[in-house]
Amino acid sequence: MKGVVFLGERTLELQDFPDPTPGPGEVVIEIKASGMCGSDLKFYRGPKGGAAAALGLGSTGAVIAGHEPCGVVAAVGPGVSDKEARVGMRVMQHHYRGCGVCPHCATGWMQLCIEGVKEVYGVTGHGAHARYLKCPARTLVPLPDELSFATGAAIACGTGTAWGALQRLGLQGDHTIAIFGQGPVGLSATQLASAMGAQVIALDTGEERLQRAKDFGADLLINPKSTNSVVQAIREATHGRGAHLALDASSSPQARAEAVRCVRTWGKVCFVGEGGEVTLDVSNDLLRRQVTIIGSWTFSTVGQADCARFIADRKIDVDHLFTDHWRLEQAEEAYRRFDTQTTGKGVFLM
Ligand SMILES: [Zn+2]
Ligand SMILES: [Zn+2]
Repeated sequence: MKGVVFLGERTLELQDFPDPTPGPGEVVIEIKASGMCGSDLKFYRGPKGGAAAALGLGSTGAVIAGHEPCGVVAAVGPGVSDKEARVGMRVMQHHYRGCGVCPHCATGWMQLCIEGVKEVYGVTGHGAHARYLKCPARTLVPLPDELSFATGAAIACGTGTAWGALQRLGLQGDHTIAIFGQGPVGLSATQLASAMGAQVIALDTGEERLQRAKDFGADLLINPKSTNSVVQAIREATHGRGAHLALDASSSPQARAEAVRCVRTWGKVCFVGEGGEVTLDVSNDLLRRQVTIIGSWTFSTVGQADCARFIADRKIDVDHLFTDHWRLEQAEEAYRRFDTQTTGKGVFLM
């Protein structure tokens, strides 16, 4: 089979790999949809051979990209029970492998494995930008019948990450949340927070992305490029008090600081964008206002299933996130376009 490999410095290649066969406890998924996630750009843009190191995930050889896997089970290895996986079962994959038995793995947080995450599919192990993906059966999360494969792919990282962050923030329907960055994760957060009944203030420096945020339920749009003070604008929109919650999905140091400053006293802020830094005035920004900062890294298998259930039950149009649908052979063009960061989300459909 062919698989997309990031070579670094904005180059990629379709390389040949043997079709995988499942070992004990493993399955092979026939991929139907493989999403493109913002963090893929870090590997795509990274230095030659050192892309994964940019996210603190160690260096790797030639691995197939794609960490939003969704498809049907094509083959089941020895020792996998019917309950875990059956041929033809519609599944998403939780794209991490851990030891499987430590407290974090046992509760579905394989990425937090005490022994260190052993594989991040699509980053340090073969991912979903290919026809097949081999993985432990325990990393599968059933895809509800109501959801498309593309929606499942989104939930498998970008949309699931937004869900995980909103859960960590404890978002309620009577809250106002400011969401910085309306790329795939931020836009998903806008869509989900709005469906949960919250008032959403969406921020982005791109007008196209802001207009999409409006389509996805944002109540107020702010373009930091054309606003004197983002913090002031958010205060004015909240009767002088500030937002209850803020989420940074932009990774911009300035946006992160503004996210902290725009919340009210006792407010909570979640950082979900990868990489980079932030500079804060600890006394004024945090202590004097009892502000809580949370870091959130994706979600557990349980959270992934909950997210899918919520989206199916509330009939949320996650497919609408995808502005670009690609064949695997178009990978070069697909990533060139995604790299502009002005578009919506892309997905490879097989
Ligand atoms: Zn573990
Ligand atoms: Zn991702």
